[in-house]
Amino acid sequence: MRLRFGLQARSLAAMAMMLGVVLLVLVVLMGRQQQMRDETETIGREGVRSLIDTYLRDHARSLAVQLAENLANPMYYRDLDAIGTVLRDNSRDDLVKWIRVYDLEGRLVHDGSVEIAGFGQPMTDPLAAEAVASPGVSVQAAPGLLTGTAPVMVGSERVGGVRVALDLDFADSYAQRNFAELRERMDALSGRHLRWLALPMALLGLVCFVVAWYVQRTLVKPIRSLADAARRIEAGDYSVERVDSRRTDEVGDLIRAFGRMSESVARHDREVRRMAYTDALTGLTNRLAFRESLDHRLMLLRGSGRQLALLFADIDDFKRVNDTLGHEAGDEALLQFANRIREAVDRYGGDDALLARFGGDEFVILIQEGDVRAAATRLAEVLVAELRRPLDIQDRQVFLGTSIGITLFPEDASSASALMKNGDIAMYQAKVAGKNGFRFYSRAMDHAVERRVHMEQELRGAWERGELSVVYQPVCRTSDGRVVGAEALLRWQHPMLGMIAPSVFIDVAEQSGLIEGIGPRVLRAACTEAMRWTHMGEGNERLFVSVNVSPRQLRKGDLPDIVAECLRETGLPASCLHLELTETAVISDELQAAAMLARLHSTGVKVWLDDFGTGFSGLSHLRRVPVDGVKIDRSFVADLQRDPDDLALTTAIIAMAHSLGITVVAEGVEKEAQYNLLAERGCDLVQGYWLSHPVSATEFAHLLARRGR
Ligand code: C2E
Ligand code: MG
Ligand code: MG
Repeated sequence: MRLRFGLQARSLAAMAMMLGVVLLVLVVLMGRQQQMRDETETIGREGVRSLIDTYLRDHARSLAVQLAENLANPMYYRDLDAIGTVLRDNSRDDLVKWIRVYDLEGRLVHDGSVEIAGFGQPMTDPLAAEAVASPGVSVQAAPGLLTGTAPVMVGSERVGGVRVALDLDFADSYAQRNFAELRERMDALSGRHLRWLALPMALLGLVCFVVAWYVQRTLVKPIRSLADAARRIEAGDYSVERVDSRRTDEVGDLIRAFGRMSESVARHDREVRRMAYTDALTGLTNRLAFRESLDHRLMLLRGSGRQLALLFADIDDFKRVNDTLGHEAGDEALLQFANRIREAVDRYGGDDALLARFGGDEFVILIQEGDVRAAATRLAEVLVAELRRPLDIQDRQVFLGTSIGITLFPEDASSASALMKNGDIAMYQAKVAGKNGFRFYSRAMDHAVERRVHMEQELRGAWERGELSVVYQPVCRTSDGRVVGAEALLRWQHPMLGMIAPSVFIDVAEQSGLIEGIGPRVLRAACTEAMRWTHMGEGNERLFVSVNVSPRQLRKGDLPDIVAECLRETGLPASCLHLELTETAVISDELQAAAMLARLHSTGVKVWLDDFGTGFSGLSHLRRVPVDGVKIDRSFVADLQRDPDDLALTTAIIAMAHSLGITVVAEGVEKEAQYNLLAERGCDLVQGYWLSHPVSATEFAHLLARRGR
């Protein structure tokens, strides 16, 4: 852990520094005081010493003068006893070391002792000569000794002298004693001072401690807990308790502001998560969240022996809803779909089921409970049945279906991305297999997908290689049962795969743009063929040929020119050519389509609306987009007998179309009963296996020849 110089450390350091400075000042002050004391002592000692010196000199002088006065008479009479008495009287003073009386020649007369050992002898001490020589009162100093000398006078006549010696050592020891006493008192004084200083110092220390504790409690602790909370929030943990404070100061403001901020950050985070993980339209889990959850579940399941199934559901031809009814209706349809799927999943998916929208019209369901294969089958069946029920959108009934691909873990794959790819492939296969159903993934499907990629390459040049051909399905009139024309239908005989369903390769041609080359060729072939039918029809009626035109051809814009050129080259009368456009192509861009239809009409050809009823154009569109006929889709015809709704709708289409002067063709008539129902309701033309399967050009010619006879 890295040590940090934090707020608390700083405040402690500041206080320690303050205390240090105060201590330093104190030490300096005390040093100064000590110095002053020493100086005072020296000065005092010197002063006292010079005072004592002056006093001793005066004392020696006055003692010598007083002795000289007292000794005048005894000296005059040489009364040694009287001299001795005087001397002894004055020797009692502790200061006086000795007193010596001498005669005019400097010889000792008396020294206060009884025996007067050196009587009559010259004085031998070092100061003696100077003392004797001095004419008046004088003072002499020697180490440890101070002598005062005065002449003994009788009247004006000098009879001798007296010297008194004072003991300087005694005086010194006296002074020393006094100084020691003084120092003691001064020491006591400075001790008292120190004690007085220690008290404020201790107080200051206490204040520092209290301040440090206060800073810790009111500043460091709350800031630390805020920093902790901020770190946790930064790490994505929003479970931080809301910090609240009743403090009215700035820290209180900060804590409250932080609390509000962390709440709003958490709110934003929830919002962002919600947005990032849910689909905005349906509120379902989105692709991202699903993928995360799938990864997680796979991790838990791996090695556990348990299974998981993914269902990829894609709405069939959903694009048509957007194209024909607009995006709002598309959204509405998706919502209704999502609700139905949700209900089905809630009921049949088990507790662990997860439903997501992958964007567009793709929904993915994960199930995990029990026998997942059986559960997935049941759910898929329910979904297919539920989703083919008509939707109510903008007061219309819209029919859609769903194709579902199912893949299982760990059977099909063990990684999330492989499972998702498999699900997609299986779903695509369900579509190829005719939509509105479900397929379990199998390894063979991988090849099917590869085949589709190859198919595009193989479709290129297929016409030139003679693999593509046109077959014709007769169209009969209900009023008299005669063949009045035929629909040209493209076939692809693949050299390896055999016959390929138009629903499969037309889609590939449409998506790859190859249809732009193939379409005109079919048109030309059909027109050429139709020319040969002239006068072959029953009652010498001219037969028409109807050719399917893909949305892509219509969008390209050169269709009227191609049609006109084709008619000119083949010589087919324009009225014998019918073009079949899908509802989607016509309705997706009404304005452009109307202009295109006008141009096509100007060439004289007729335009039919193919697969009518599967789109959502409704009959009202027919007024704005003028067509010559509608072909009722075979899905309606198939259920005519069973489903009264379909019968009612077909009847309504026929009536409405007739009121607009439009021809009605029914396709997919497989039974006589269907034919009769349609004929009863006034359907103009019919087409279907019951009458004839699509046949080759030659067979068609035979058929005509047979019938014409
Ligand atoms: P479509 O235009 O609706 O063609 C009618 C389809 O119904 C044909 O399928 C026909 O074989 C089939 N059919 C006819 N009678 C019956 C019946 O009684 N029962 C059943 N179940 N089906 C019947 P086909 O030939 O497979 O064509 C499928 C679609 O491919 C066509 O639907 C058309 O949209 C498209 N198509 C075919 N040839 C061409 C072409 O040359 N150009 C373009 N652009 N599309 C084509
Ligand atoms: Mg058609
Ligand atoms: Mg059709």
